[in-house]
Amino acid sequence: MKNECYIVRDLLPSYIDELCSEESARFVEQHIDTCEECSQLLHQMRVEFDTQEQPEISARLEQKKPFQKIAHFFNAQKNFTRFFSISFWVALIITIGFFIHALNVLSNLNDIREEAQVVEQQKQDIMDKAFAILSSKEIVDETALQAVYREYSEQLQHLAVFSTKNIDDVTRLQNGPTTTFPIDYSQAVLVIGENGKISESIVPDIYDIGTIAMANNQWVVQYEYKKSYLKTVENAHQIKHYAPTNWTIFQLPIVFAIITVFILGACLFQKRITKPVESILD
Ligand SMILES: [Zn+2]
Repeated sequence: MKNECYIVRDLLPSYIDELCSEESARFVEQHIDTCEECSQLLHQMRVEFDTQEQPEISARLEQKKPFQKIAHFFNAQKNFTRFFSISFWVALIITIGFFIHALNVLSNLNDIREEAQVVEQQKQDIMDKAFAILSSKEIVDETALQAVYREYSEQLQHLAVFSTKNIDDVTRLQNGPTTTFPIDYSQAVLVIGENGKISESIVPDIYDIGTIAMANNQWVVQYEYKKSYLKTVENAHQIKHYAPTNWTIFQLPIVFAIITVFILGACLFQKRITKPVESILD
């Protein structure tokens, strides 16, 4: 054994642990290449070192296992939190969309409601004006009635007056302007149209929403709307009888808002649970 061998053998433990300097390591390697004995010793020491270390490593891995399981669990929790927050944003966007839609519907509905009020008021006005003329005289004042027709010529097709003597069932017409199945114009005392008094026979429009009648004890007044005005009248009729309530309009957005709040609650709860272990999760 050479002198160098003693130095190398002193260095071997730190060489195996990779603790010696680069120069010493190179010195050991150069020596090992040339010295069979030291080379064998290094090999032997390495085998020993491994058999010592191995059980320790496996024990350490064994210890880690439960923590790995916990980490697995918390990672699942983390995904859960992510799922909740994505769900929250999706639900929020849907809710906002529904609310915008509902507000649009409400705004349109309010426009139609206003229009309907105008139509209803107009029905009353036309009847009031016609009956004001009729009640003052025994004979129908054609000129005055024509003036009423002209005032509403944008909306009216015909304006007719009947004597209650010619009509069977007038009681249902005595409560105010009513949509009605048209009374046969051939029984009328007077019918006024675009060009004044109409003498020839009229085929009535049998669409009952388009015809309005009202009666007092002596007279029945009936008028028919122009086709061009029917859409407005129809909308007014719809809104009066079948209008959705504000609750119906906002039902869906409110339901979605509640769902969104629930998801937010779940999301915050989940975040609170995972907060203390957040550093472990990353
Ligand atoms: Zn040697």
